[in-house]
Amino acid sequence: MTETKTIEEILPQHEKILILGSGPAGLSAALYAARAECAPLVLSGTELGGQASLTNVIENYPGFPEGVGGVELSTLLQKHAETFGAKVEIDTVTSVALAKRPFEIKTYDKTYLADSLIIATGASPVQLNVPGEKEYTGQGVSYCATCDGWFFRNKKVVVVGGGDSALEEAIFLTRFVSEVVLVHRRNSFRAGAILKSRLEANKKVHVLFDSVVTEIIGDNGVKKVRLSNVKTDEASEIETDGVFIFIGHSPNTDLYQGQLDLDERGYIKIDNKMATSVEGVFAAGEVADPIFRQVVTSAGMGAAAGMQAAKFLTE
Ligand code: NAP
Repeated sequence: MTETKTIEEILPQHEKILILGSGPAGLSAALYAARAECAPLVLSGTELGGQASLTNVIENYPGFPEGVGGVELSTLLQKHAETFGAKVEIDTVTSVALAKRPFEIKTYDKTYLADSLIIATGASPVQLNVPGEKEYTGQGVSYCATCDGWFFRNKKVVVVGGGDSALEEAIFLTRFVSEVVLVHRRNSFRAGAILKSRLEANKKVHVLFDSVVTEIIGDNGVKKVRLSNVKTDEASEIETDGVFIFIGHSPNTDLYQGQLDLDERGYIKIDNKMATSVEGVFAAGEVADPIFRQVVTSAGMGAAAGMQAAKFLTE
């Protein structure tokens, strides 16, 4: 039987400004491009709202002294952009052709043409790459406390990492779990002072410094982790019901390899006007920011990219 396609699926959809990614960078770009009357289209990717929407409470986004929920902020950003004429579609890009004009962007079942492109595809959690990690992902191994913490009510979990994410999420998990063992490879945290003092005050968190997880062991779900002390090489095991891994992020730039200039870690190289190595293509947020990686800085980069894309079209 031959599959029939709708006319929308056959004909490429031509947009003035196409924005890839719906995190704070993508939605802020959409707001500014929409206010410049460019009616941008945002392709959201699989995670509407990006990583910010996976955060329980964002405490450092200006204007929200009580904090704001990640989903709430994403919803507000989307509504704000749509108010001025931006459109948001849930679709995932599978390929981009940046040597063509207009640029050609394909999703699983559609082709888009764009006069200007803003890439705001963010970053994904880094994996530990230890035996058992892949096998038990979704069965006790997680990279998102907001998504999965609830499943570990009154259970014991291991959290890996020593940055802001690890400490923030370890503290958040104590709402549900009976105990958090925080495993960090050094003997001091990279995280900021506020989180460090909150962690110290939390009786449910126990810290194991100078230690790395070498294996996740399970049987129909996580049962224990094997550890190694990096100073003594001493091996040990602890029983646990889950492992939450927060050891940083890497940029989602696979689609642009060979088409845009990337740095040695894979971040898109941009100038101070968010311009990439291809004229008319801009990048904003964590996909192009290995340094700040904050909701507010991503939103600022997105606003700048939205303005520059609109200016590019006029010029
Ligand atoms: P990060 O700051 O890069 O920290 C990653 C942590 O994981 C570090 O402690 C690092 O150890 C450890 N690590 C890296 N690779 C490892 C490995 N293979 N095995 C074991 N441990 C490993 O990442 P992040 O915590 O996700 O934060 C990312 C950015 O978001 C930062 O700029 C952060 O400030 C920001 N952020 C801010 C907030 C907030 O302000 N409330 C919340 C979350 C995130 P070392 O310390 O030894 O390098």
